[in-house]
Amino acid sequence: MNKIAIVGTGYVGLVTGACLSDFGLNIICVDNDKQKIDDLHKGIIPIYEPGLEPIVERNVYYKRLSFTTDIKEAVDECDVVFIAVGTPPAEDGSADLQYVEAVARDVGRYMNGYKVIVDKSTVPIGTGQRVKGWVREELEKRGLSYDFDVVSNPEFLREGSAVHDFTHPDRVVIGTESEKAMELMKQVYSVLYLNETPFVETNIETAEMIKYASNAFLAMKITFINEIANLCEKVGANVQDVARAMGRDGRISPKFLHPGPGYGGSCFPKDTLALAEIGKQYGSPMTLVEQTVKANELQKKLMAQKIEDELGDLEGKQLAILGLSFKPNTDDMRESPAITILNDLAKKGAKFKVYDPMAYKEAKWRLKNIKDQITYCKNEYETMEDSDALVIITEWNQFRKLDLDRVKKALRQPYFFDFRNIYKRDDMEKRGFKYIGVGQGSGNIQMREELKTKQEVAATKTSD
Ligand code: NAD
Repeated sequence: MNKIAIVGTGYVGLVTGACLSDFGLNIICVDNDKQKIDDLHKGIIPIYEPGLEPIVERNVYYKRLSFTTDIKEAVDECDVVFIAVGTPPAEDGSADLQYVEAVARDVGRYMNGYKVIVDKSTVPIGTGQRVKGWVREELEKRGLSYDFDVVSNPEFLREGSAVHDFTHPDRVVIGTESEKAMELMKQVYSVLYLNETPFVETNIETAEMIKYASNAFLAMKITFINEIANLCEKVGANVQDVARAMGRDGRISPKFLHPGPGYGGSCFPKDTLALAEIGKQYGSPMTLVEQTVKANELQKKLMAQKIEDELGDLEGKQLAILGLSFKPNTDDMRESPAITILNDLAKKGAKFKVYDPMAYKEAKWRLKNIKDQITYCKNEYETMEDSDALVIITEWNQFRKLDLDRVKKALRQPYFFDFRNIYKRDDMEKRGFKYIGVGQGSGNIQMREELKTKQEVAATKTSD
């Protein structure tokens, strides 16, 4: 097999390119962001993704991995061209396909023989057929009729563990109508194929649907446990015990049953919106998904509300914020709950001392509208000095074992908002914190006290 081009050198494109080159293939990563490619030429990795840097370094050294802004050169030299550009939401929530179209047209404009065009971006059902149309249009303009095939090969990696996910996938989905393309794709993934990774071979539309259905289902599962958590708070139940017991049921599984401040990131928010739009478009409403989108928005707002409920008037109050990225181990802040929470609180006059190990570059432009209310700190403890409360939004590992004596001493008031439930309520209360988690019976301290008193009275009577 000749070289493979990966167009779009972002979270998905760079990881795909690096890992495929590590499998021994010759890869050219293409991006139209010159700065990104210049950085990569200098050995600077434009994103934070654990474990990625040495793979890039190693494969550049062995000349299996290269970077360019010149898509013509890449299409020219490669048999297989992956499209891994962004598909952000348009105004109406549907996926904006302008970047996918631009790449497809570039392939048609520059191809010089048979090519397999692989769609790795997450795209609405039917996009594979549109890609064919765009390529064909460009070929017609050139008066040419080269043969080509389109494949849908959705990606399931998670930021923060992308390298492991790419190299150890639960399944590889390949959707195409062409046997020739299917064979080429098996060669691309031969390392995984030989390792007995399950391969789902299907048509293009099914492959496109698999990606949306998977993401929407996971988003729904998170939202379900978030709503259960909210109800737990009202009825005095503990969601962590509920989730643990639910998760023991093999049909449910314990994964994605962790309540929190709402899902964010570059995938779930836009993919749920896009699937809901597709449902409307085809007259087959995705009502559960539509509700998931609404409930998730509410969940983020509820977190800001929890803080206001406890602290009262927020004017001039200072909050220590730990974690801004949408999840740990990434610098990605796309749709991070932190954005909604901080904006809502800022409107009420709160000020913030924030710390995140990796997300400052993004935070500084994503939160620039409230920049006068934010102080960026060098470490977690600096945020707490003279703050009225501590708020954990993202569960970076280093926030799991804070020096709690130091935290208590630094804070003006011992309010501890743990929106990832990484501390134990009883321990925290014993240490004198006013602890507010998600779905752990917060707001029911009085009820629990009453219950305890009743139990003590009952115990005394029995011993009499
Ligand atoms: P990203 O924004 O990190 O990267 C996209 C890259 O494409 C950017 O570097 C951009 O400069 C480049 N680009 C845009 N137009 C181009 C063009 N015409 N020519 C060359 N380069 C171009 O996006 P991402 O997070 O890697 O996501 C890419 C796709 O993969 C999306 O459809 C996303 O939904 C899907 N996906 C993402 C993840 C994830 O965790 N990030 C996981 C699975 C699937």
